[in-house]
Amino acid sequence: MAIYRVTASLLHLRTSADRASNSLAIMKAGTIISGTADDSPTPGWTRGRWNGIEGYAASQFLERLAALDPVPVTVGPPVNVDRRDVDMAKLHPIVRDSVAQLLRVLNDKAMPFRVFEAYRAPERQRHLHAQGRSRPGMIITRARAWESYHQYGLAADIVLFVEGKWSWDTSGARAAMWKELQVAAASLGLETLSFERPHVQLKGVALSQLLAGRMPDGGDVSWFNALSEAAARWTAAGGSPPPPSGLLAERPPLDQLAS
Ligand SMILES: [Zn+2]
Repeated sequence: MAIYRVTASLLHLRTSADRASNSLAIMKAGTIISGTADDSPTPGWTRGRWNGIEGYAASQFLERLAALDPVPVTVGPPVNVDRRDVDMAKLHPIVRDSVAQLLRVLNDKAMPFRVFEAYRAPERQRHLHAQGRSRPGMIITRARAWESYHQYGLAADIVLFVEGKWSWDTSGARAAMWKELQVAAASLGLETLSFERPHVQLKGVALSQLLAGRMPDGGDVSWFNALSEAAARWTAAGGSPPPPSGLLAERPPLDQLAS
């Protein structure tokens, strides 16, 4: 396997080694892709994989990098499953920006929403899913580990914060605030769930895509780092189901990832 860097300002990853074939993705300058085997290579074209998508890119816009070996992903300390993570750097840049804008819009209208939870590790998702099932308490989520957009840095939970306390109160004047959260989120390319009021997630990406390891374009280092570390930790602990392929495999050196 070889690793290449995109040198053109924008480069198509195509379905076949042909300029007329469909574009699967558009990669920005500096994007790192890994080369994959091709039984019958076409001169001028490189078969490669990026974000779980395999296709062909014009070789003249690819620079082969010396660092051929993927960096081993480090496994950090175990996750505290009771702790909410509000680190916005772990969110995909598109979601990070949309959520920041969403909060600005709402706060400007004197609606005191804040981020209650951002990235959620699969261990915590499993823990929350067990509530009301194998653990006491009310059922609070339908999603198992790797089935929530939180595990991909593509979701956030937005809750009212009033007089130093989180509030899920939907009575009186606050009903309109929750309604406005839904409306404003939709206008910013975020999807809401009817059964989880505070939850917003990236629109236009199917869970089946994520489970197949196909992540949205435009990721950056801090987002990718969070995902690969979560996948590495989960794998090292023998967690089931396995993380989507592509989160761990063929990880390029992080300082060479497009940011
Ligand atoms: Zn959520």
